Amino acid sequence: MQDLIRELIVKIGEDPQREGLLKTPERVAKSYEFLTRGYRQDLATVVNGALFEAESDDMVIVKDIEFFSLCEHHMLPFFGKCHVGYIPRKKILGISKVARIVDMFARRLQIQERLTGEIAGAMMEILDAQGVGVVIEAQHLCMQMRGVEKQHSTTTSSRMLGIFRKELATRNEFMRLIR
Ligand code: ZN
Repeated sequence: MQDLIRELIVKIGEDPQREGLLKTPERVAKSYEFLTRGYRQDLATVVNGALFEAESDDMVIVKDIEFFSLCEHHMLPFFGKCHVGYIPRKKILGISKVARIVDMFARRLQIQERLTGEIAGAMMEILDAQGVGVVIEAQHLCMQMRGVEKQHSTTTSSRMLGIFRKELATRNEFMRLIR
């Protein structure tokens, strides 16, 4: 990857031998390794058995989970907050694990809509919940720094599964609680 970064520096018209850029290929390679670490994680390892017996079937919400991702069209950051809710059937998941699932999918090349769906699908898969709702609010640097340069726009996406999809009251309760 360092060779590619060096070549990229040349292609954008810079001198990779310039002092300030000498170590840049190494730094960028390390940085990408971190920003894409989600490819080297899987759901079972991330969850690591942190499933507990549900004592009720009340809605569980983890909101304002910060995330950072890279858009797959421009490889520029998009970032924001993710809200996850579910109604358990038999199992609940350790709260920190919800954030780790968000992180696992965010640390890949993504589009916001797929990220939203993958988080919801993974929650459903491990919990067999009655329903799952995921809402993501994000800012995209590919819109803010380039292209249309809309600097204050936020993109919201949602995925509702099971009872969150079927029951308007459940969905409304979720939306009210994450506001
Ligand atoms: Zn983009």
